[in-house]
Amino acid sequence: MGMGAADADEYDVLVVGGGPVGTHIAYLAGLAGKRIGIVEPRGRLLAAPTGWVSKVFREAGRELGSKDASHRADWQRVVDEFLLPTAERAFALTDRTVEQLKAVSGTCSVTIIKGKAEFSGPMQLTVTDESAETASPPVLLRASSIFLAIGSLANRLPSLPWSDPLADGFLFDSDTIMNVGRLPHHVAIQGAGVIGFEYASIFRRLGADVTIFFRESAPLDVGIGIDSSVMKAVLKRMTKVGITVLCEDGDIESIDLPPQKHGMGRITLAKSGRVIECDAFMSAIGRHGNASSLNLGAGGLAAPVRGNFVQVDPDSMRARTAQGDADFSMPVYAIGDCCLGSRITGMLLSSGQAHAEIAANHAFGLDEIHADGRLKRSSTTGFVFSEVEYPEHHAVALWTDPTIAYAGLSEQAAVAKLGAERVGTVTVHFTDTVKACVRPRGKDEFLKLVYKKDGGTLLGVCIFGSDASEIVQNVCSSINRGDTLWQVARTVQPAVTYQESLRTAAFRAIHSIQLEQEQDA
Ligand SMILES: Cc1cc2nc3c(=O)[nH]c(=O)nc-3n(C[C@H](O)[C@H](O)[C@H](O)COP(=O)(O)OP(=O)(O)OC[C@H]3O[C@@H](n4cnc5c(N)ncnc54)[C@H](O)[C@@H]3O)c2cc1C
Repeated sequence: MGMGAADADEYDVLVVGGGPVGTHIAYLAGLAGKRIGIVEPRGRLLAAPTGWVSKVFREAGRELGSKDASHRADWQRVVDEFLLPTAERAFALTDRTVEQLKAVSGTCSVTIIKGKAEFSGPMQLTVTDESAETASPPVLLRASSIFLAIGSLANRLPSLPWSDPLADGFLFDSDTIMNVGRLPHHVAIQGAGVIGFEYASIFRRLGADVTIFFRESAPLDVGIGIDSSVMKAVLKRMTKVGITVLCEDGDIESIDLPPQKHGMGRITLAKSGRVIECDAFMSAIGRHGNASSLNLGAGGLAAPVRGNFVQVDPDSMRARTAQGDADFSMPVYAIGDCCLGSRITGMLLSSGQAHAEIAANHAFGLDEIHADGRLKRSSTTGFVFSEVEYPEHHAVALWTDPTIAYAGLSEQAAVAKLGAERVGTVTVHFTDTVKACVRPRGKDEFLKLVYKKDGGTLLGVCIFGSDASEIVQNVCSSINRGDTLWQVARTVQPAVTYQESLRTAAFRAIHSIQLEQEQDA
């Protein structure tokens, strides 16, 4: 259409996607004092991750439902008291986010460009806003660095009848389930990854019957580094609250759609022949990248790799170019759910933020500035930075019910790395804390530490239970610092908190190391 590069709006940094990972890199670019453009179809940043609706349903289930599904929550209250007010608060928060972003550096600027971006030349994007109320001519943008943070989409088994009109209101994937719009009577869920388990516990709490079926022999065994003790605890908890759990039975033989909307359908499983009668079915079998929408080739970049991801160099997060397998020479970065090849695996919020940190270090030279930990001015840009070395481990929080959080190595990963004889573990149930005497909690909820027997260095932590996400960062910092059990045992904790479990774990581990040493002597 004759739009030349001369017509383009120029930025230092363009961020494609205003989800949590795009927002994170924008903050870092702000710290570096850049002129930032963020392209996002909604025209607003998103305060919450893709999965925010499930978090709201979980809160609603806790308030309006019951642990054993003994009564059904009123769906209208779920919408009026939880969904709508949360959305309102989240949008208000995103608007404040932009103001905050502008405030991180006196010289940075932030523009949000509404629309979908695709490459129309090297380091050049065309943005088209197709939303009905604001549709306008395409805009051409150019930048010195481009960060792709366009997220992921739910996988769909082609054998399922996605476009059959009778599937409307019955068949969902991990994106569309947020629009379920009612509390079904019996929900069938295929897949026991984070999202499958999350929705199984949500619907159960809200008062529905739930059947979950999956290929693996344990839930959450999906390659994201979860300790097997957590998998066992999840299995037990699901069974305890009355969820029907079918392991190693994840494939579908046939499916009969309900004869009318919100009626009962039938799913026949391939391995066992078991028939599940249900009025809602969510197939949650993983997610894939969103890269094909970007026209990477026009930007001189390699075509998306298997799973529709942008392939990246693990050290810089730069996208592979069309020049060759090992060519990452263009300043185009891919971070978050849409990339493949990073050393931080897992399509999780914290993985994406870790990608952003690595990319920022590479793109803005954040860690070239100095190493004394104080705020200083960069000699090259004059902007104020705090030196942040990228830590080896980052903490993961899964907003499941109960919450799961972990950092560092699982017991299995530690054993694989160091050998069983060098790895120790210790588990403390939260019932062994003063806080749980005041506020009783599930007997199955625990914190487990993984440590090196020689020297007592912390290697990993996993936590199963409410508030897990609030404790884990503390332990993660200890792991990254290389703290030992003896250091943890001597920490002073705030009164009547679950932090006590960490010190108790350290004491028990020291005791067991000493016992072993006495036996060996
Ligand atoms: C149901 C569910 C539950 C989850 N629970 C957890 C959890 O408990 N813990 C956890 O750590 N993670 C969880 N996750 C994963 C987490 O939500 C993602 O890892 C995270 O949202 C990824 O962030 P992102 O910014 O990479 O992508 P997204 O959040 O998907 O954001 C991508 C953004 O890019 C925009 N976009 C797409 N294409 C274009 C384009 N061409 N041009 C411009 N903009 C574009 C989209 O509009 C979107 O705003 C969950 C995910 C789901 C679906």
